[in-house]
Amino acid sequence: MSPQRESGPVSSEFDLQVWLAAATVLPPIVQAGDRVLRRRAHEVPVELLGTPELHSLVSIMIEAMRRAPGVGLAAPQIGVPLRLFVAEDQEERIEQIPAETREERGRVALPLKVLVNPTVVADGEEQATFYEGCLSVRGYGALVTRAHAVRVSGTDHEGREVALRLEGWPARIMQHEMDHLEGMLYVDRMLTRSFASEAELARLSAEPVEEVMDELVVVPKR
Ligand code: ZN
Repeated sequence: MSPQRESGPVSSEFDLQVWLAAATVLPPIVQAGDRVLRRRAHEVPVELLGTPELHSLVSIMIEAMRRAPGVGLAAPQIGVPLRLFVAEDQEERIEQIPAETREERGRVALPLKVLVNPTVVADGEEQATFYEGCLSVRGYGALVTRAHAVRVSGTDHEGREVALRLEGWPARIMQHEMDHLEGMLYVDRMLTRSFASEAELARLSAEPVEEVMDELVVVPKR
């Protein structure tokens, strides 16, 4: 075996101005394996709130999320190790999902949210298990169990306080994005045997979860 080469750690001194100067209009979404997805992101310094720099970063993130398209994007996903994410689930997209599936998942519209230095905590014991995917783990999805409802707090990029209680799909989005700020991916939480490629996902996510469990997750008896 050859020795593994170690490059330096992500600097604790992240310079947003330098990053913005070098950023392309729409930076690529980094994929699993990039270390930035596996480090705890740094607090956004209060001095950055309300600045044109933070405004630019947020605009880039919103654009990258909408273009992907996705319903959430955390700063580390474009290579920025700061504690903020954007999320949005538009009505037009939800309308394309069968009513039954929408109902089951609690998939309701989530107007654009910008969360800086957020906390996300479960509200209650109830949990929900559904297929989810990630823009940084392109081409796959898996069943992930998460809290049905959460309380989210933090500020937006202008420093205005944000406090939300969300249920269903919006609550799932918040938990997924919050994980990114801790260096976690859904694959760390997934029911590993439910892991599926895009080609199978449409079929699997339309099936009741219990059926998927029987089909994939329960280890067959010999
Ligand atoms: Zn993700």
